[in-house]
Amino acid sequence: MSTPARTLALFISDLHLQESHPRTLDAFFRFLEEHARHTRQLYLLGDIFEYWAGDDDLDTPFNARIIGALRSLADSSVALFWMAGNRDFLVGQGFADAAGLTLLQEPHVVDVKGQRIALVHGDAECTLDTKYMAFRAMVRQPAWQAQFLAMPLSQRKAIIAGMREGSREAHTTKSYEIMDVTPDAVEAVFDATGAGVLIHGHTHRPALHRHGERLRYVLPDW
Ligand code: MN
Repeated sequence: MSTPARTLALFISDLHLQESHPRTLDAFFRFLEEHARHTRQLYLLGDIFEYWAGDDDLDTPFNARIIGALRSLADSSVALFWMAGNRDFLVGQGFADAAGLTLLQEPHVVDVKGQRIALVHGDAECTLDTKYMAFRAMVRQPAWQAQFLAMPLSQRKAIIAGMREGSREAHTTKSYEIMDVTPDAVEAVFDATGAGVLIHGHTHRPALHRHGERLRYVLPDW
């Protein structure tokens, strides 16, 4: 009996999984069973979680269900790859080990059937948003993360909840242009990687853009 043809790779991002959105979680679990189980590689490109407070939060029932579902896929010979988003950048090796996935740094380049594809979450390319870029530079520092992760989990969750509130407010005042990737930053990724295709999420503006000969896929949110 021949095995059915398998998809080579699937790319998803921006699920923003959270307890208050159970239907998104159901859709994700359905996607894993109906689609991801039949692919060789699944790329999770950031903001899969609405927030991640640290790898000492693996056992929360909500997180444990998601980790268990990913682990089940990994155990059925789907290779899982994870890239940090601006919401879940505190995911670390503890999470990766539990879920059975490989952490990627951005930009990451994959070769799919001879096609060179660059992967980023997309937040680092929103360079007009100078306030966010400064925040990002701070929170991506190992020293800042070590200090933050040294706080009690409950305190970290309270701080994150406050940040999410501030982010929601900022989104109502920032312009449409500021919240998108810039052409210069996109070109920089193409030039740095030599890729002919770029896949990213973050902006929640799904589209296929042409940059001369090169293609840029923007993933949808969920
Ligand atoms: Mn994002």
